Amino acid sequence: MKCYYHESKDAVGTCKDCGKSLCKTCVDKYESGLCEACEKKRKEKIQKELDIKKENLKKNAKSVKNDTIKDLVIAAVLSLICGIFGFAIGGFQGLLMTIGFPWGWKFINQIMTGNFMSWLIILTEKFWLVAYIIKFGLALIIGAFTWPFIIGYKIYLFVKANNFEKETKNM
Ligand SMILES: [Zn+2]
Ligand SMILES: [Zn+2]
Repeated sequence: MKCYYHESKDAVGTCKDCGKSLCKTCVDKYESGLCEACEKKRKEKIQKELDIKKENLKKNAKSVKNDTIKDLVIAAVLSLICGIFGFAIGGFQGLLMTIGFPWGWKFINQIMTGNFMSWLIILTEKFWLVAYIIKFGLALIIGAFTWPFIIGYKIYLFVKANNFEKETKNM
């Protein structure tokens, strides 16, 4: 048997992927022990998989950015409405108390799906008005204290996704 690539040399092995006979030089050429064509094919396949992975990460970063902007815009509009309402009732203090209400409401809706707040779901089914008053009060309190942190966190997520997008742009 002669080497597929070098007709004058004796074959000492075969390519693991295609089975072509290979001489000592060819067998030692790549760590994988594959022939030149198969080595190239395998590398291309790995590269393709990496490209797909990168593309998905980029898509993910983009959707994080879009979602964050959407969240911030909606919350800003709602906060403005609540803030104006609060200001009309209690001046600047009223504004401070109501401005975070949309964030608080959203936060409660999010944790209500977990076991922690299941009592509120049960209460809503039996005494919906009482449940809504409690929810309303909790949203006011939670919102008033947490909204700057939530907005900060959203901005952080946005910046992180944006940086990732920039970093991977030319890759
Ligand atoms: Zn091969
Ligand atoms: Zn050879």
